[in-house]
Amino acid sequence: MSRMPLIFVGHGSPMNAIEDNTFTQEWSRLGKSLPKPKAILCVSAHWYSPRCRINSSPHPRQIYDMYGFPEALYRVKYPAKGSPELAQRVQKLLGDRVEIDNSWGIDHGAWSVLVHLFPEADIPIVQLSLASDIPGSEHLALGRLLQPLRESGVLILASGNIVHNLGRVDWKLEGGFNWAKRFDDAVHALILDRKHQALAAYEDLGADARLSIPTPEHYLPLLYALGASAEAEVPTVFNRSCVLGSLSMTGYIWGNTNPKPAGANHTR
Ligand code: ZN
Repeated sequence: MSRMPLIFVGHGSPMNAIEDNTFTQEWSRLGKSLPKPKAILCVSAHWYSPRCRINSSPHPRQIYDMYGFPEALYRVKYPAKGSPELAQRVQKLLGDRVEIDNSWGIDHGAWSVLVHLFPEADIPIVQLSLASDIPGSEHLALGRLLQPLRESGVLILASGNIVHNLGRVDWKLEGGFNWAKRFDDAVHALILDRKHQALAAYEDLGADARLSIPTPEHYLPLLYALGASAEAEVPTVFNRSCVLGSLSMTGYIWGNTNPKPAGANHTR
């Protein structure tokens, strides 16, 4: 089996789950270009916990972890199964760095993207949490330990936002503030140069980083994707843009995809 591609996605607003826009269209296109994974390991910004945890339930519940949005968003169903087997495999890879916790489920960092990526919801999903008590370098190291999963048909989907400052959101602004665009570009250059340690030490990346990462949970999923990428892989960027001033939708994919022409049916 060839190595499964690896994705970091900027998920942005939960409304992307029910909207048809350039970002969600790109997610759909991306889903059609991927080999069908056997299972998905999702590292979502929305499960940020003391210590690293993993859900091993065969039927994880869908979590509506957002407030004050239109009713239609709370009716979105993504009834994917879990995978105790994959959870067990991850436990083997991470050892005592991870513990089982089935109190969480599939949160909107995962399902708001997956409804576009794999609308059939027929691929088992396991979520891994982001430990709040370890530095960036250890998140990167955990990502590296997950790399072998890609050799057995598991898609690692890291879901966050490189720039995520809700306190600075400007609802009237379509693009990004200068500092947001600068930081998104700086991260892009570091990713292409494989400066992973520098990206893991995000606290040292200057004033733009401090504005872009006021809290780390939306940035940290990127470190898992970087860690799980192979030395020779050059990532492709997608949805490279900032919205509402202080959010970046930029995503990256590593590995071989097989894009189909627009409008082609997706056969698996
Ligand atoms: Zn989010």
